[in-house]
Amino acid sequence: MIKTKATGPIPTGFQAIDGELALGGQKASALVAEHGSPLFIYAKSRLDDRMAELRAAMPDSLDLHYAMKANPYAPLLRHMIGLADGIDIASGGELRMALAAGAAPDHVSFAGPGKQDEELEQAIQAGVTINIESAGECDRALKIGKAFAKQPRLAIRVNPDFDLKGSGMKMGGGAKPFGMDIELVAPTVRQIVEAGADWRGFHIFAGSQALSADAIIETQAQTVALAARLATEIGQSPAHINLGGGFGIPYFPGDDPLDIIKVGDALSDQLARLPDILSSTQFAIELGRYLVGEAGVYLTRIVDRKQSQGQTFLVTDGGLHHQLAASGNFGTVVRRNYPAAIASRFEEEPVETVSIVGCLCTPLDRLSDNAAMPRAGVGDIVAIFCAGAYGASASPANFLGQGPAAELLLD
Ligand SMILES: *Cc1c(COP(=O)(O)O)cnc(C)c1O
Repeated sequence: MIKTKATGPIPTGFQAIDGELALGGQKASALVAEHGSPLFIYAKSRLDDRMAELRAAMPDSLDLHYAMKANPYAPLLRHMIGLADGIDIASGGELRMALAAGAAPDHVSFAGPGKQDEELEQAIQAGVTINIESAGECDRALKIGKAFAKQPRLAIRVNPDFDLKGSGMKMGGGAKPFGMDIELVAPTVRQIVEAGADWRGFHIFAGSQALSADAIIETQAQTVALAARLATEIGQSPAHINLGGGFGIPYFPGDDPLDIIKVGDALSDQLARLPDILSSTQFAIELGRYLVGEAGVYLTRIVDRKQSQGQTFLVTDGGLHHQLAASGNFGTVVRRNYPAAIASRFEEEPVETVSIVGCLCTPLDRLSDNAAMPRAGVGDIVAIFCAGAYGASASPANFLGQGPAAELLLD
């Protein structure tokens, strides 16, 4: 007997038509027949609902930014520009995509290590805020501003002296390529102000993919306290503070959704009793996967069903070249199963234990390991959920000459 491994929780709100998983009122098989397989489907209604829930939970005065590296698909990005108060980018390429999709430059901020002169120049010319990651980057930005007679808009990304606890990916605390160490912040702000550039404030990002409200609340409190300390040292109020994000979504068995009401209530309290030096500061949080992750599903057709030494494999036409994270090869220590289903038999009961694999010639290409599924064969369609973030754009599409999956934003 093969031991069955659980799959992650399927996000709520998905419906069936004629027993099949339905997206935007269309059956999975119809979507694949029309648009091909493999296929990423994103649903506008799910994006809208998620943003509305978040706005209702968070303080009214808080800006909600979309970190577009989670999903830069142009139609989805355009939709998110309409929903979010700002767009956070992390490269010159994302700058071009954001502007082409209609983002207003004064609502765009640019973080990330290793910004090249050309990228700084484009950002300064466009008038977007640059989150400065190092002393050298600050020097280069000021020099480029002078050369083009443009006043750069510069915020300081701070490397905080704390971590977001329980965070899937640690981005702060200790020696880091991201952000400036705390003792460098005040002198750098003075340098920016003296050079006549526009100092926009702070960006403090302490981690990603946290499901614990208490951990996020603690980090936000530490972040506000650190910003207040730095502003006091500088002797000037920051116009803007980006508190980071880190809101996670459940991917794996046993994961519970983040309690955003609890987070929002605590943040409202925080913002209601700010020290004077931050009383006129505009606060923002930046989220990627929380906004778009659960809005997406990856559909891939089964092309072979085979047995090997007593185990059943469902071999699909997709794989890790589109779903690196679901395969367990994007920053995870132990491979666990993403939420998955046989989309074409969404309402059938599980009757067998199968491994769902991709079509790449590597043992890494596993979409679901020993999962309990209804009986499926060639032509059935597999759905991998939570595919709206870090899917298509964060996977090696050209590996083994496969090429990208189709993507579609549904109304
Ligand atoms: C990647 C990143 C984000 C988005 O992270 P999610 O886990 O998708 O919410 C936000 N801010 C910064 C600085 C990032 O690098």
